[in-house]
Amino acid sequence: MEYPQNQKEAAKFAAGAVERMAELGITANPQNFTVWYAYLSGFDTSFGRHIDSMLAKKEPFDDTQCADLYAAVLRLSLGDKEGTREAAIDAVGGDLEKAIAATTEILKQTGSETERYGETLEGVDGALQSAGTAEQMQSVVANLVEQTRLMVEQNRNANESLQKSNNEIAELKIRMADIRSEALTDPLTGLANRRAFSEELADGMSAATEQKAPLCLLMLDIDHFKAFNDTYGHQLGDEVIRLVAGCMSAKTKDGDTAARYGGEEFSVILPEASLQDAEAVAEQIRVTVAGQKIVRKASRQTLGSVTLSIGVAQLRAEDSDEDLIARADAALYAAKHAGRNCVQSENDLAEDADARNVA
Ligand code: GH3
Ligand code: MG
Ligand code: MG
Repeated sequence: MEYPQNQKEAAKFAAGAVERMAELGITANPQNFTVWYAYLSGFDTSFGRHIDSMLAKKEPFDDTQCADLYAAVLRLSLGDKEGTREAAIDAVGGDLEKAIAATTEILKQTGSETERYGETLEGVDGALQSAGTAEQMQSVVANLVEQTRLMVEQNRNANESLQKSNNEIAELKIRMADIRSEALTDPLTGLANRRAFSEELADGMSAATEQKAPLCLLMLDIDHFKAFNDTYGHQLGDEVIRLVAGCMSAKTKDGDTAARYGGEEFSVILPEASLQDAEAVAEQIRVTVAGQKIVRKASRQTLGSVTLSIGVAQLRAEDSDEDLIARADAALYAAKHAGRNCVQSENDLAEDADARNVA
């Protein structure tokens, strides 16, 4: 679906978008502007119907909803409807190639025109020397003026075309970055997805080995979540997953990677953290989640809270990523066995094993 090309119409939608955001108390940032512009311009029928229904039900347009709507517009603009993300990447790649080819052609043409103008100037020099009369002189100068005017015009056109090509390339770069970030983000929570987690873990492990710095991994799992879903429904379950993600983001810092490992399981990569540091981060996340009240939005009914079990492991020199994940998982399993809503580290496992050996 295309946006309108007509200036007047576009201005009407732009003004309408700003008005709607003000009415609904939505922050007027570029993402939200895109959403409301798309909505008002009839960008996509099902997208329009979705917003209509939210408006009819007076659903709140909070930050999460707004982010979801923006992601939906992005997906639709990238043609997710017809094909896969790969198709979108191919399309951007094709456009980029075209834009670069157009720029190269303009540069080539400008080059050959400048060369021709140089030849004209050389010719003028000879013609001036051999011009015998005032009329001949005038005709040489008139020709020179005309050639110069043409050259200036061609340069202006070339500049405009180059500017257009540059803008297209800049826009395509932004689209590429959006596609990449979408490919690495979990759409429900906005956390890193499993693919991003794997990339970050590999990078983190290399950096830790190179710098001889520690690195720890947390594996987190929501306790008795199947029962929660069975009792309150999958939709509220999804809200809980978002809430856990929010707590994880709040309790980790720049450079850490909080990821949705899959379903109701999460992980956090903590570069430069000792096992003790990592246990402290895990404990903070655990306490924060346990302290959140789950409230059913529509009825404002409080449904209690959910808890997490967390396993912690530290990278060892000989570890593959699978080894590290397996030890963090084993610690998580131990946390489940210890009664849930607690943190266990791989050291706790070793102590248990020692205790068994002594007994
Ligand atoms: P435990 O304390 O041992 O972890 O028990 P559990 O019930 O959490 O564990 P189990 O692995 O048996 O169940 C996980 C449940 O998580 C199953 C599924 O209903 C739910 N789940 C997984 N992914 C999602 C999701 O994306 N949304 C929702 N709402 N539920 C999910
Ligand atoms: Mg699980
Ligand atoms: Mg679980």
